[in-house]
Amino acid sequence: DAVESVPALVVGSGYGGAVAALRLGEAGIRTVVLEMGRLWNTAGPDGKVFCSTSAPDRRSMWFRTRTEAPLATFLWLDVVNKDISPYPGVLDRVRYDHMSVYVGRGVGGGSLVNGGMAVTPLQSYFAEQFPTVDTAEMYRTYFPRARSMLGVNTVDPAWFESTEWYRFTRISRKHATNTGLKTTFVPSVYDFAHMQREAAGTATRSALAQEVIYGNNHGKRTLDKTYLAAALGTGNVTIHTLEKVRSISRAPDGTYVLTADRIDDTGTVVGTKEYGCRYLFLGGGSIGTTELLVRARESGTLPALDPSVGTGWGANGNVMLGRANHLWDTVGENQSTMPVMGIDDWANAANPVFAEIAPLPTGLEHWVSLYLAITKNPERASFTYDSGSGAVRLGWSAAQSAVSVGMAKKLFDRINRANATIYRYDLFGSGNKVFADDFTYHPLGGCVLGRATDDYGRVKGYPRLYVTDGSLVPGSIGVNPFVTITALAERTMARVLVEDTAP
Ligand code: FAD
Repeated sequence: DAVESVPALVVGSGYGGAVAALRLGEAGIRTVVLEMGRLWNTAGPDGKVFCSTSAPDRRSMWFRTRTEAPLATFLWLDVVNKDISPYPGVLDRVRYDHMSVYVGRGVGGGSLVNGGMAVTPLQSYFAEQFPTVDTAEMYRTYFPRARSMLGVNTVDPAWFESTEWYRFTRISRKHATNTGLKTTFVPSVYDFAHMQREAAGTATRSALAQEVIYGNNHGKRTLDKTYLAAALGTGNVTIHTLEKVRSISRAPDGTYVLTADRIDDTGTVVGTKEYGCRYLFLGGGSIGTTELLVRARESGTLPALDPSVGTGWGANGNVMLGRANHLWDTVGENQSTMPVMGIDDWANAANPVFAEIAPLPTGLEHWVSLYLAITKNPERASFTYDSGSGAVRLGWSAAQSAVSVGMAKKLFDRINRANATIYRYDLFGSGNKVFADDFTYHPLGGCVLGRATDDYGRVKGYPRLYVTDGSLVPGSIGVNPFVTITALAERTMARVLVEDTAP
């Protein structure tokens, strides 16, 4: 195919990509977004766009023959995962040694599959992680802008206290309180007015129908409904789907040249496209963007990239675990898939942990309290390039995960002691595994702000090349990350559009 030349290209349509696309479009700059996943707007044979976690089909996962859900087993039984046919499904699990990274695939990236928790980090911890960023300006301007654009709202406390759908959360709160721990409500991009109508039977159920990691058919304000809808509305932005960027280089005139593989529904590469652009924004996520840049540096297509590209990666200290409740502490057959509360022990300097109270909606009483703990794990890893296969590998070790486990265990041992409860041993495979420490929902880093880039995401050594996604965050932010990623992208775009795009 011939080279398609556009002023600006954006790789990926997650948070970082969506912010870049909107702000470029508003500035009158013609922009093409390249997204390897599909556009999720057409109903399947069941009349729904997405499948639920309880009945996954080919729409669930990115080219798999069997689903790979985070909770592999229940009562040690292999009842969770199902055989499926390969298809560009919405959730991917990228496997490295000792660490799997879950990511969303499709127009909207992670917003399609995530739990919607829209948390602003503690200002002091943000300042610690981003010493060169004007923190006051972030909290005055860019965090509020991100929250408002994303449609962040909070659960009505009175409804929360009374509804059967959050009984599981109230039980976990009680056990935290018994331990002397603090809990806090977390905001969400799931529309709670919609959720209350779901509970009342006046709206089609989504959060109340076990829909989340394979997509929500209703209620969630995903990026295709917020930033990306607005971007398309400028008339300057086009999104190309099922196009996976393979390589980036620079032409002698200083423009960037991208090669993208066009794939079909079976994953077959049906063509290759070349794009040329003056401005290039990378929003492929921590894994997607870092892989592209490490490969570009090591294969020599962008040889002057900084040595820190591919370093500073962390899993936001993620550890998942379950506790077994006493028979009288029922968690309920009915559970909303959208978490609304966390146990906040981040101020505990000896062992900082923020643990979100996660649902386990099976339609049965199971007495499990599930958590995703975010620990302050200081371990970081680097990516390496294998010139033989062209593969990019992540050098994360089991010992690095053990640091997160140690911190989660300290907190939950306390909770178990205070409530005379124990852990669940049956949720993460046949090995009686208590702490799921081999996957993350929060990949962060790889092209860290102020190291691989300047303080605004401009990639060192390459003018008009930018990173706007989770790879800028140095491995840990202490809470769920998408509000931070969005706010940082807003800050980058505000600066770049003023300083770098003069005609
Ligand atoms: P992404 O959102 O990952 O977007 C990257 C996009 O780029 C993807 O669409 C991808 O397909 C595309 N792409 C990548 N490489 C290429 C390429 N080479 N060519 C073309 N396209 C490419 N965070 C929260 O804050 N709250 C939560 O409740 C929460 N829950 C989560 C639950 C799950 C199951 C998961 C998986 C994540 C969750 N997260 C949550 C994390 C959050 O979704 C991510 O931090 C966020 O999506 C990262 O944004 P991003 O812009 O860095 O990249």
